[in-house]
Amino acid sequence: MNLKNILTPQQIEICQKELYYYQSVGVKKNILQIALEHNFTQKKEKSPSHSLDLLKEYEFVISREDEKSFHIELKELLGPKRLLALEEKLNKSVIQRVVPVREFKEKFETILSVDPEIIEKKIKQFNSYDREDNEVLTLFRMILHHGVVHNVSDIHINAYEDFSWLRYRQNGKIQSKYLLNGDLAQRFSLIVKEKSNIDLINVQTPQSGGFSEAFQNANIDFRIEIAPSRFGENIVIRILDRSNNLKSFSQLFPKEHPMSERLLHFVNQKNGFFLTVGPTGSGKTTTLNAILTQRDRLREIIYTIEDPIEYKIDFVTQYQVNESINFTFATAMKSVMRQDPDVIAIGEMRDRESIHIALKAAHSGHMVFSTLHTTNSYMALERIRDEGGDLFILAYSLSGVIAQRLVQKLCDCKIPSSSEKGKNYFKSDKFGFEKKGCVRCDFSGYGQRTLLTDVVLIPPDIKTRYGFYMALKNSTVLSVWDNLITFSYFESAKHLFEQGLCDYDTLISELLSLGYVDEN
Ligand SMILES: [Zn+2]
Repeated sequence: MNLKNILTPQQIEICQKELYYYQSVGVKKNILQIALEHNFTQKKEKSPSHSLDLLKEYEFVISREDEKSFHIELKELLGPKRLLALEEKLNKSVIQRVVPVREFKEKFETILSVDPEIIEKKIKQFNSYDREDNEVLTLFRMILHHGVVHNVSDIHINAYEDFSWLRYRQNGKIQSKYLLNGDLAQRFSLIVKEKSNIDLINVQTPQSGGFSEAFQNANIDFRIEIAPSRFGENIVIRILDRSNNLKSFSQLFPKEHPMSERLLHFVNQKNGFFLTVGPTGSGKTTTLNAILTQRDRLREIIYTIEDPIEYKIDFVTQYQVNESINFTFATAMKSVMRQDPDVIAIGEMRDRESIHIALKAAHSGHMVFSTLHTTNSYMALERIRDEGGDLFILAYSLSGVIAQRLVQKLCDCKIPSSSEKGKNYFKSDKFGFEKKGCVRCDFSGYGQRTLLTDVVLIPPDIKTRYGFYMALKNSTVLSVWDNLITFSYFESAKHLFEQGLCDYDTLISELLSLGYVDEN
């Protein structure tokens, strides 16, 4: 295949520059792959990979979907042939309803307003011509809106020598999106700064802030981080969707979860130290907040110390650390300790000082919650030891650790699996489910994400505590692990598999990345 026949010289140039960039950071890619990522060219056998294509082809909107059929609305009814073709593509029967043209147009345009193709077309136009400020603003809002609708967690704009690259992080994975020229990227940066009310002129030092926007009926918060880099400003926009992220404890650990009852008991103690740990983007703050919201907020004095405050929680006093006015983590903690708290939640223990302060608070009869950046529950203990945390206090106050990461959940269109792989691997009597694909999941077969956890709970009896302390001291914690209440990543994966929430492929790749060896 000769790329010169497929791509324009400009597109080849862009691909080559990116290729050069990838080589410099050690990522293996070829030009065709890059061209495909940018939609410069498309694979020939194009499957209905995006529901929007179908909506545009047949001009309809979906009003509702049940087990057997899609209920769709259109301007005029489809003939029997087209109807049959659509039913085949959707894999379900279709029930049509005609709606007035104006009503249809309104609904149709709302959907199309977040059509990535239209956004891309607009960006291409904007890249080549000078545009009015309000048009740039509209485009920027479209990009945000598209992100909100598609459950994007972050929008990244990175500046390279000749262009900026706009990418989405969706379900934990980075998706290449659009190329912006320097001018457009700069105008986006100004919009972000103006909205967040931060210094417009400053391009020399990192700045952070936030703003909110109304989309449809919801008010969405965005947190932003802008920092100078060699070729321009890097912008990260985090989408904070409250409805999506402020979850209740029972949503994360429903009754049928094997650990639900015991966890509930351990996170509701009067004093102790409880950690949620995991890498960035693993949802540990969401879990921490879920734990806080199920405490008795009307009868307990609860404080949080955060940087930044991500979600507002009613009846909880939340402090924002602000280094620039010397309201540091340590001063905030000192102040909180004088305010007679029952429960203290510390956003994240980033350094030695915060670990020491948290341990001290736990030791003085409070219930302390915090998060740490480690892979599993065992590593959390190692990390605290490493930072010189008092092992005596740790051994006698730690109530438990939830280590977690997010894994892709199967969409409701899943089908029972007939493969024995999962059944054998998990030594289960169930076959589990596998993905299929439907309009709702963009034919990916996957929906939102769910928690894969590694939990350890430390029973309070003196004998266990003493053994735990000695083991911590002698660096032999694993030898007493069996005396604790544990629920490993493997057990958690087995549970997700048997409940039909995740498929074997997703779970095995996650377990392998966590260091579990496939014994089969
Ligand atoms: Zn689906």
